[in-house]
Amino acid sequence: MNRVKVKGLMGVLVLALLAGAGGCTRTVVVEKPVPAPAPALPQNEHLVMAVLYLQHAAEARALRYQAYALARTRLDEALSHHKSPKKLAVVVDIDETVLDNSPYEGKLIKANASYPEFWKEWCQLAQAKAIPGAVEFLNYAVSRGVDVFYVSNRRLELLEPTMENLRREGFPQVEVGHIYLRTDESSKENRRLAIQKTHEIALLIGDNLADFAAVFEGQSTQLRNQTVDRLKKEFGTRFIVLPNPMYGDWEGALYNYQWRLPADQKALLRHRALKDF
Ligand SMILES: [Mg+2]
Repeated sequence: MNRVKVKGLMGVLVLALLAGAGGCTRTVVVEKPVPAPAPALPQNEHLVMAVLYLQHAAEARALRYQAYALARTRLDEALSHHKSPKKLAVVVDIDETVLDNSPYEGKLIKANASYPEFWKEWCQLAQAKAIPGAVEFLNYAVSRGVDVFYVSNRRLELLEPTMENLRREGFPQVEVGHIYLRTDESSKENRRLAIQKTHEIALLIGDNLADFAAVFEGQSTQLRNQTVDRLKKEFGTRFIVLPNPMYGDWEGALYNYQWRLPADQKALLRHRALKDF
């Protein structure tokens, strides 16, 4: 029963009580409930479960510990086989890999806004919390003589607050030369190649397939899945994936990467992509 129906029923009851109690005829005006106008659909309603999952599901916390525990095992193996004169390196993405931006997504939901609104403001606060397991793992890597590189598509103008945030959370090697932010291109391939000039990359850790290899960039949903199948041996060995149901290329692929489509058209494409029976 909804709120309007209850109000209507109450009105009828009031009328009956008044008529019965006095035993005489009275005119009772019962206000007809006016149905509330249908609220405009919030454009980020689809994000609510994703954000709640990362913020509240202990399973999400466990998945993140699991990813970094696996990373440690794989790094130990890489160290035991390491013969190259180049130092070993671990390459990590930043957002949703080592820093948790779910409060930013929460803000987008509550303000009915969309990226990049409030992004700069959020980053400048430098208040993102570390992803569980990340600080311990990266400090362990450095303690074993491995270098850490942060490769992120945050824009260069956000370098200072990003470094402040990483330092505040206890991450190691937060210094120039270890952080590659986005300059002229979103592809991370050239930044990975630059690191490979001096280092052997033992592990890549990220929440988006483009954090691992250029082959994943701009692919359709079908191709992304086919490529993952083809490269399945890399996952859990050289590639360590963190969960991110809030956003990513997986979502972009649903829109054919047309991020600027109106919210209702994106909603339609999301619904069209659903599999049912
Ligand atoms: Mg990321």
